[in-house]
Amino acid sequence: MTIAYSIGKNLYLNITNRCPNDCVFCIRQNGEGIGDTQLWLKTEPDVDQILQSVGDPTGYEEIVFCGYGEPITRLDAIVAVAKALRPFGIPIRLDTSGLADLIHGRDVWPDLAGLLDAVSISLNAHNAAEYDKLCRSKWGEDAFRAMLDFTNRAKDYVPKVILTVVDYPGVNLEACRNIADGMGVSFRIRRYEAPPSACSKAAAQD
Ligand code: SF4
Repeated sequence: MTIAYSIGKNLYLNITNRCPNDCVFCIRQNGEGIGDTQLWLKTEPDVDQILQSVGDPTGYEEIVFCGYGEPITRLDAIVAVAKALRPFGIPIRLDTSGLADLIHGRDVWPDLAGLLDAVSISLNAHNAAEYDKLCRSKWGEDAFRAMLDFTNRAKDYVPKVILTVVDYPGVNLEACRNIADGMGVSFRIRRYEAPPSACSKAAAQD
């Protein structure tokens, strides 16, 4: 099973399959990996397995907690791995749906203080109804507000906060950009490819 894999000069960490969403554009709709890289995990790796899979991180430009599911479901593992990697001085990013508050029932940002250099959060839509149509979260439309609240608080803990959308048909990109601008965070559009489809978080390895 693939836990750590590199694309370009970045190293991506795949630590769980679990995700509370079922996005229409998710690569998981199309298979169990990206290209030849099998990402569906038979079991979730523990912290030692993740660090073993990373090996010597020297030389990577960025280490990214990413797919194949929602990494923040494994908050404790992220904290432990990021703490172990911090001394290497390599930027660490979290790619997330931004639903940590709902997943864990509390504000998790204090746990992550000082451990991340960037967080990329999937905005995906400009309002709760559109978000629900695209992301089909187990929390329905409530997920949209939770994601925005999580994003607002991220600014207190992470130097670089990015909201992302996939240019999926029907997504109001300009309205999404206005939300990011209004929140004072970066905005990024990720390309939709069908098939295989692109994911605004779990598979957009860039
Ligand atoms: S796109 Fe990301 S948030 Fe959506 S179902 Fe896939 S892994 Fe989960």
